[in-house]
Formats: sequence, C-alpha cells, structure tokens
Amino acid sequence: MASEVLLIMGPPGAGKGTQGKRIAARHDLRALSTGDLLRDHVARGTDLGTQAQAIMEAGELVPDHLIVDMVRTELDDMDEVRVLLDGFPRTPGQAVSLDALLAEYGAEMSAVIQLQVPDEELVERLVSRAEQEGRSDDGEATVRKRMEVYAEATRPLLDFYDARNLLVRVDGVGDLDTVTERIEGALA
Ligand code: AMP
Repeated sequence: MASEVLLIMGPPGAGKGTQGKRIAARHDLRALSTGDLLRDHVARGTDLGTQAQAIMEAGELVPDHLIVDMVRTELDDMDEVRVLLDGFPRTPGQAVSLDALLAEYGAEMSAVIQLQVPDEELVERLVSRAEQEGRSDDGEATVRKRMEVYAEATRPLLDFYDARNLLVRVDGVGDLDTVTERIEGALA
C-alpha cells in the first residue's frame, strides 16, 4: 500500500481525536495522537512522561525536540508511513521537522483537515468532556491557556498548509456521523 499522511487540525474541543480515529479506520491509517502518546508516557512514568506532565497540566507545549523524537519512534516501526496525525504539528518548528521526517521516509502530506467549530460551542464541549473523562488538563484555567496557545502557536499553521493547497475546511458542528461524512466528502 502506498504511503498516506493526513493531518487533522482545530482548536481544543473541536473533535480531532474522535473524528481522527474514525477517518483513520476508514483509510487504513494509524491514528497518531501526540496527546495520547504523552498521556501514555505520563501513565507509565517514563522519563518523557515525567518531563511532560507539569507542562501538560499547565496547558503549555512540550518542547519540539521531545515531540519530534517521539513521533520519529512511531514512524520508525512502519514499513510504509500511513498515518493520521492529531495534535502534531503544533508549532511552525514542528511543521518544518515533520516535512523533513516524512521526506526521510519517502512520504509527504496528503491533506490537512481543518475542523471548524465556534468558540462558544468549544467551551461547552470541553466542560462536558471534563465531566465525562476527567482529563486533568480540562480544568477551566488550563482550557483557557490551551485555547491561547492554539491561537498563537498552532493556528498560523493553517496558512502554511493553505499556501500549499493542502487545506480542506470542514464544518465540525453536528452529530458524529454527519461530521465524519462531511470530512469524507471533502477529502474525496
Ligand atoms: P492534546 O491531547 O492534543 O490536546 O494534547 C494535550 C497536551 O499534550 C497539550 O496541551 C500539550 O501540553 C501536549 N502536547 C500534545 N501534542 C503536542 C505537540 N505536538 N507539541 C507540544 N505539546 C503537545
């Protein structure tokens, strides 16, 4: 099978994790969420987990080199790079490193899905996620910080990918199946 790399982007609470896993399953891609990988490191108490924990609880960004090394480890054990990236890249530096990494593996970005959800709805979703999942970085102050970090460090990447004609904008408001079908329609 040929390599394929999809990226799903959007603010915290847009539904990247949920939709990313669905799209990955349909396209036979590995869903690679740097947030999930980091939470796993924290749970296992690895060195990386120990370094990342306080940063994550503050809603700030784990340093680029740690993230890029973690992603490299994931790509290393694939014969063919077939991934859906969720939560990475999150900074211009990570985006540049990703291009270099993909080139090493003979792969390139296929498309970037931008999930669009209005701010008021994001806050509601994050509050209910905090109640259901009990994620330790879903407290109000941390959520606000994560929104700010998204706007400052990550949102500019949308222009970076748009300039390369990779950006696919999708309305992220609606029930899960509706949004999944919209994404599929937009990728087709
Ligand atoms: P997420 O599950 O994607 O919302 O990520 C949860 C937290 O993990 C973020 O608030 C960051 O502290 C950290 N994190 C996840 N992905 C990255 C990344 N690509 N770069 C830096 N920090 C990250």
